[in-house]
Amino acid sequence: MSRDTRALIDLAALRHNLEVARRSAPGSRIMAVVKANAYGHGLLPAARALAAADGFAVSSLAEAVPLREAGFIHPILLLQGLYEASELATVERCRLELVVHSLWQVEILERARTERPLIVWLKVDSGMHRLGLAPEVVPDAYRRLQNAAAVGEIRFMTHLANADDRNSDYTRDQLQQFERACAGLAGARSIANSAGLLGWQGSHSEWVRPGIMLYGVSPFLDSVSARHDLRPVMTLTSRLIAINQCRRGDRVGYGGAFVCPEDMRVGIATIGYGDGYPRHAGTGTPVLVRGQPSQILGRVSMDMLCVDLRGVPDAAVHDPVTLWGRGLPVEKVAAHCDTIPYELLCKVTARVRFDYEDGDGQSTRSL
Ligand SMILES: *Cc1c(COP(=O)(O)O)cnc(C)c1O
Repeated sequence: MSRDTRALIDLAALRHNLEVARRSAPGSRIMAVVKANAYGHGLLPAARALAAADGFAVSSLAEAVPLREAGFIHPILLLQGLYEASELATVERCRLELVVHSLWQVEILERARTERPLIVWLKVDSGMHRLGLAPEVVPDAYRRLQNAAAVGEIRFMTHLANADDRNSDYTRDQLQQFERACAGLAGARSIANSAGLLGWQGSHSEWVRPGIMLYGVSPFLDSVSARHDLRPVMTLTSRLIAINQCRRGDRVGYGGAFVCPEDMRVGIATIGYGDGYPRHAGTGTPVLVRGQPSQILGRVSMDMLCVDLRGVPDAAVHDPVTLWGRGLPVEKVAAHCDTIPYELLCKVTARVRFDYEDGDGQSTRSL
C-alpha cells in the first residue's frame, strides 16, 4: 500500500450546494467564486461541477486564463481587477470582467483602447475598508468610466465584513452605505458572499457571489453546514500505519506534549503539516478512526500525527482516519485550531492525492 493520504472531492455535493444557493437567492444570478484553486478543491474539476452557475469569480489572470482556455464560456470576473495596464490585452483576449477598486485603475481604463468595450464592476467601500472606492468618490468615478472608450457596461459591487455574524448591525449599515453611494446610478449590483446569501436577504440584488457554501461549509460563526442543507465537498483521509501500546506516563510525539494518563493504545496516522493539516491542532482536535470519533494527541509532525485509540478498541493498522469532511465537519476542526474552514481547505498541499467522485461514489479518478 502506498502512502494513502487523500482528498476525496464529491462533485455531486458541489452541484447540490449550488442548488442550495439558487434556492436561497432565487431572484439573483450566481457568480461562483473559484479563487485559490477553488478553495483548494481543484479549479477545473470544481468549475466543471459548477458549470450551471451564471459566472465565475477569481482573483487574478493566473486563475482566469486556465478557466477560459478550458473552454468555459461563462462571464469570468477578476475580483482584484487589473494589477497593471499590461494585463489588458489578456483581459480582452479572454473576455474577462474587471473589478475597479481604485482611482489608479480608473486612470488605466481612461487611457486604454480596446476592440470591444469591457464590463467593469465599480467596487464601493461600504465599510470594510479593504478594497473599494469611498462612497463620496463613486459618482465621479462612475462618470469617468462612462466616458472611457474602453468601458462598456458599469456595474456595482461591495463586500460585507461581518455577514457571518447574524447578530451584527454592521451588515445593515453597509447595505445602506452601498445603496447611498450608488443611488441614482444605473447598473446591476452585487453584494452577497455566502453569509450574505444565506443570512441577509437584503443583500441579494442582481448577482450573488457565494464561495465557501459551495464547498459545503457554513459561512456562519455559529453553525455547521448540515443546518443549511449543505454537503461537505472535501473529505480528507489518511490511514493508521502503526499502533503503539503506551504505558501510563509515556510521552507522545515531539516535546512530549501529550502524557498518557493511563495505559492506552496510540495510533499513528500518515498525515501532517506537510500535507496541510494544521500544526497548531492540539490534543483534543477531533478525527474519525474507522468512522469512530476520536482525537489527536500531542503535536502534529510534518508527515504524521498521533491519535487516541481508547474509544476504538478494534482499530488496526491500515484503518482509515478522517481528518475532516463526511462525518466530521471542517468547521469543528477549524474551531479547535483557532482558524476558519477556508484556511484549512486552501492549505491542503500537492502531496495529497486528489480523487474526484461523481454521484454514486463509483467513478473515482485521480488528477
Ligand atoms: C472570496 C470572495 C467572495 C466569496 O466569499 P465566501 O465567504 O467564500 O462566500 C465573495 N466576494 C468577494 C469579493 C470575495 O473576495
